[in-house]
Amino acid sequence: MAYVISDECISCGACAGGCPVGAISEGDGKYVIDPETCTECGACAEVCPVGAPGQE
Ligand code: SF4
Ligand code: SF4
Repeated sequence: MAYVISDECISCGACAGGCPVGAISEGDGKYVIDPETCTECGACAEVCPVGAPGQE
């Protein structure tokens, strides 16, 4: 299952630059992950300062 960014996101942008497949983009009030592109590598969860990306 693809990673999902929760409402804890503070739109710092750190995860977007670290995603190896470019699945993360800035959305309305928070960043969002394209589930069709995400390879579930976990890099976004490691760089996020607030722990927003996760798997449900
Ligand atoms: Fe990108 Fe990996 Fe995060 Fe998926 S889990 S959005 S591939 S950094
Ligand atoms: Fe949001 Fe975390 Fe990504 Fe920053 S690193 S944009 S807080 S999900």
